[in-house]
Amino acid sequence: MSQEGFDKLKKECIDSGLCFECGLCAAVCPPKAIEMKHYEWGNNPELAGKCADGECTKCFRVCAAKDVLFGKTEETFFGRKRDMNTFEKFGGVIRFSATGCATDPEVRHTGVSGGVASAVLIHALEKGIIDGCVLAGWDEKEPWRARAFVARNRKEVLACSGSKYQPHPQLLGIREAYETGLKKIAVTTTPCHAGSLRRMMLEGDFAEYTGIIRLVISSFCAAHWALAGTRWLLKTWLGVEMEDVKELRYRTGTFPGTFRAVTKDGTVHEKAFVRSGGVAALGRFTPEECRVCLEKIGYSADLVFGDTWGHPGNFMSFDMTPPAKELLESDERIREAAAKGLSAILCRSGFATKLIDECRRDGCIKVFENTAEETEKFLKHVTSEKTDWYTPWIEARKRRGMPVRNYHL
Ligand SMILES: Cc1cc2nc3c(=O)[nH]c(=O)nc-3n(C[C@H](O)[C@H](O)[C@H](O)COP(=O)(O)OP(=O)(O)OC[C@H]3O[C@@H](n4cnc5c(N)ncnc54)[C@H](O)[C@@H]3O)c2cc1C
Repeated sequence: MSQEGFDKLKKECIDSGLCFECGLCAAVCPPKAIEMKHYEWGNNPELAGKCADGECTKCFRVCAAKDVLFGKTEETFFGRKRDMNTFEKFGGVIRFSATGCATDPEVRHTGVSGGVASAVLIHALEKGIIDGCVLAGWDEKEPWRARAFVARNRKEVLACSGSKYQPHPQLLGIREAYETGLKKIAVTTTPCHAGSLRRMMLEGDFAEYTGIIRLVISSFCAAHWALAGTRWLLKTWLGVEMEDVKELRYRTGTFPGTFRAVTKDGTVHEKAFVRSGGVAALGRFTPEECRVCLEKIGYSADLVFGDTWGHPGNFMSFDMTPPAKELLESDERIREAAAKGLSAILCRSGFATKLIDECRRDGCIKVFENTAEETEKFLKHVTSEKTDWYTPWIEARKRRGMPVRNYHL
């Protein structure tokens, strides 16, 4: 029995401050010796048992905290590398780019933006394209804490819709999906978590898990914010103690969404989220691993969803200025976005492109394809943010000889 794999993981990925808490190291550990321990300032992979016999390095090999393999991922899963002479230079491989919304009012209302992620998952389940999906739900015992949830039907997908703006070991759900006998799954991730998933899928050693993954979905991501930020928001915005919460939503109801907590006595407490500066407030709780991250739009995922802030066909910006009447009348997208929000949609793989097209023809989503100019303008805007915010941290770490995340094209 050698602990070499975990020792490397601990030194290079965890203690270096790069671990993004996906839980894949724990999911692939043959004797389940790694546990994801929860702390309010982050989740930590810790060795709670004995490593496998022999020279097992599985936990270290799947970890993308230090090295993210974009080039290999693109060639293997999207059929080609990104074209550095086009907007793919900053957008990654893009086969299809659009905005859209779910057509079912319940799905659209429950979803955080346009509800397209949930609509596509429901379609894929109901048509037998997948038999389950690993989504982000809520812990039964601590209902303010996000956790991976394996959904098998519409009701369970809708129970998981909406964004969980806190770190949690989402990829542990893959082990659960496999152990419960699912054969074809979709997995929702943040961009960094998709990077680890792809590292695993690029290796030949993880057939039991990689054999069941049909679709990797990522959100756009500014950061995941430590649970301490949620506690702070509950206390200072709503006057609620986290332990009194029985139901939590970061963005629910009318777009762009309300931060809502229902306490154990049944009282509803709420405050507009985006309009009250919820993202900036949580920004103070951005953990170390997110401050070395330059990946906003899920370069490793088949299918990527985001909000449409900064999209040229959308008046929406964080100041939420209502659109003028003429603007509303000029473009159906603007009317849709103003009414209930839209999801940005990027398809990177052929499979994802086909699935979105199938959903559109089935009528479960409405899609507005972007022109090349719109895609370029939108993605340039979206991808510039992290470079602006996090370059100071990255450069400071480099200056001190501390490791940073490496992106390999
Ligand atoms: C941590 C985080 C940060 C984000 N930052 C940005 C941003 O800066 N800019 C931007 O435009 N968009 C961002 N998004 C994406 C945005 O909030 C919506 O998720 C996206 O627009 C999809 O909307 P939808 O209505 O189509 O999704 P929905 O129909 O609501 O479905 C969302 C799906 O994602 C799953 N999910 C939610 N949270 C997580 C999570 N943490 N990990 C894995 N799966 C999850 C849900 O279970 C659900 O299945 C972020 C999302 C997350 C989770």
